[in-house]
Amino acid sequence: MIEKNVSLKPYNTFGLNAEAKLLARVDSILALQEVLADATLKNEERFILGGGSNLLLTKDISGLVIKNELLGIELIEETEDSFFVKSGAGVVWHELVIHCIANGYAGIENLSLIPGNVGAAPMQNIGAYGVELKDVFHSLEAVEMATGNVETFAAVDCEFGYRESVFKRKLKNQFIISSVTLKLGKEANVNTSYGAIEQELERLSISSPTIKDVSEAVINIRQSKLPDPKKLGNSGSFFKNPLVPTAKYEELKTKYPNILGYPAGENTKLAAGWLIEQCGWKGKVVGNTGSHALQALVLVNYGNATGVEIFNLSEQIMKSVYDAFGVHLEREVNVY
Ligand code: FAD
Ligand code: NAP
Repeated sequence: MIEKNVSLKPYNTFGLNAEAKLLARVDSILALQEVLADATLKNEERFILGGGSNLLLTKDISGLVIKNELLGIELIEETEDSFFVKSGAGVVWHELVIHCIANGYAGIENLSLIPGNVGAAPMQNIGAYGVELKDVFHSLEAVEMATGNVETFAAVDCEFGYRESVFKRKLKNQFIISSVTLKLGKEANVNTSYGAIEQELERLSISSPTIKDVSEAVINIRQSKLPDPKKLGNSGSFFKNPLVPTAKYEELKTKYPNILGYPAGENTKLAAGWLIEQCGWKGKVVGNTGSHALQALVLVNYGNATGVEIFNLSEQIMKSVYDAFGVHLEREVNVY
């Protein structure tokens, strides 16, 4: 059934008021193919919606929103050292993490509590605490919007990069991801070296952490510094951490000895939050929006912000970071 004039406020974590002219909820590949083949919908612009946690809606969606509700988690293969787990795109990402931890499937514990659905995870190769989706990714299935055909993509086809994939670039708006298969470990090779995980485990007096311990540590850290979208609208990190040539980083470091940079191949990854904070934005309230007091990289909606207002704030932040450091920030959030 196609719903008309649907408010998207409950479906985006910024809590922005925008309307979809048409909305279809699909819970199977067949239902999705039927919607794609429907002659009455043929001329409508199509927009794919997951959990709405990486989205800035600056206007109404005048076409058809396809809300991905394909569920199901399945262990499809087990080898000597790996579990192959296939998940429907509409499964909530953190529910997949909980399922894997409960069954001893190791590898995504550092990605605990990332909002959104499984289907969007490959879009920007979600990452946190030193782990990215690509590290455990096996393959995905996606339905081509133009034909309704189901295609399988291996990791190499997805062209994963830092918060990037082919689906955000060359194949943008061409495929609807319907399932994702992960290759997870039988042995827990926990990675605790990133950020505050080690301190948190120490605080909990845990010296040989299990994957569940690591997940709990990550959850504690995230809850202590990230605003809960249910209480304060946000979309997580609004900008990517910029990659700059290492020579540029060295030059900045002579001027700003405290600048935060991490090696990233031939480049250096700068902490965007630090750059934004230096420009005086951290905790600053601008009308109904602002940069969060505990994490400058997160822009928030104090209740009545519009997408345009948040977009304009992001422009101001980008300009001031460029003027101060000569570094271009790129938005991570998908702007519509
Ligand atoms: P949506 O916002 O619904 O969609 C995002 C984009 O993907 C849109 O362009 C949409 O059209 C497209 N899309 C969605 N589903 C599909 C599909 N099935 N097929 C094709 N295209 C699709 N991200 C991280 O990487 N690491 C983090 O640690 C992290 N922390 C966050 C913390 C908070 C508090 C919040 C609010 C966000 C955070 N994010 C993080 C961002 C966000 O959670 C992820 O990017 C997540 O994968 C988005 O999923 P979603 O289902 O909400 O996508
Ligand atoms: P943090 O630990 O305060 O670190 C600040 C930045 O420095 C992070 O962005 C991180 O880059 C980088 N960093 C820290 N330690 C690093 C290391 N050992 N090696 C390389 N880079 C390092 O960050 P935070 O804000 O609390 O977030 C913690 C983790 O959750 C990060 O991985 C972050 O990406 C993720 N997160 C993502 C979002 C989102 O919406 N995308 C939102 C909240 C949190 P990276 O970002 O590349 O990891």
